Amino acid sequence: TYVVTDACIRCKYMDCVEVCPVDCFYEGENMLVINPSECIDCGVCEPECPAEAILPDTENGQEKWLELNATFSAQWPNV
Ligand code: SF4
Repeated sequence: TYVVTDACIRCKYMDCVEVCPVDCFYEGENMLVINPSECIDCGVCEPECPAEAILPDTENGQEKWLELNATFSAQWPNV
């Protein structure tokens, strides 16, 4: 799965949302997150993010962001 990280905070450019084939982005006040159980790992959103905030969860140190994406996507509205 891909995860949204802290570079998204106060950006919310939203181009990633437009290209996601499974609509798995969720929106909070300051950032977006990806629902890891809906993400099909296609990678289409990654180059669309101008803040380079979207990363594969396999990259080093993303465990915390994976957890936060899972938690927040369960609480925030789908976009
Ligand atoms: Fe959506 Fe694909 Fe990005 Fe996952 S990797 S959030 S399925 S666009």
